[in-house]
Amino acid sequence: MCKTALEALKEALGLLESATPLRFDCGQLCAKACCRDDGGDEPNGMLLFPGEEAFYAGQGTWMEMYDSELCFKGEPVKLLVCHLPCPRSLRPLSCRVFPLFPYLKGEKIMPKMDLRAAPLCPLYSSDEAGLSPEFIAAVKQAGEALMQSGTQKAFLALLSAHIGEYWFL
Ligand code: SF4
Ligand code: SF4
Repeated sequence: MCKTALEALKEALGLLESATPLRFDCGQLCAKACCRDDGGDEPNGMLLFPGEEAFYAGQGTWMEMYDSELCFKGEPVKLLVCHLPCPRSLRPLSCRVFPLFPYLKGEKIMPKMDLRAAPLCPLYSSDEAGLSPEFIAAVKQAGEALMQSGTQKAFLALLSAHIGEYWFL
């Protein structure tokens, strides 16, 4: 581990700048279901990685940030909730890896379907086999980039466990 949290995050974001789950815009399949609020009691949003919230300060009205119920190092993890389509270059890492997640298992990164995608993403049922191999490889590389920072690695472990809890709902 030899990078700061911000350096590792920027590297991960860069690896997923252009890689997408399919070779065409998968939002055409579902009217961008993962970007829409379902109108439930809790706002739908994407959890931000350590340091990522700084990129959204003063970025306008297309989104808001909330404190989520998940805590990391004694602080609530920030949740980005979108009201309008984002400037694509500002997609947070959680959006870039979706519908996969780079689960941390032991010391290995395993890009697998994000269990939170099950109720909304039409790609979920086809499993990883239905996704672009380049996208899967980029998610794995992004996870490995995060592992270069102790903070990001600890956060990956937290989110891997948090998402894993969905198995038991
Ligand atoms: S819900 Fe799935 S298919 Fe739809 S835009 Fe999001 S990742 Fe693509
Ligand atoms: S940041 Fe962009 S890609 Fe992510 S949920 Fe919001 S509108 Fe969708």
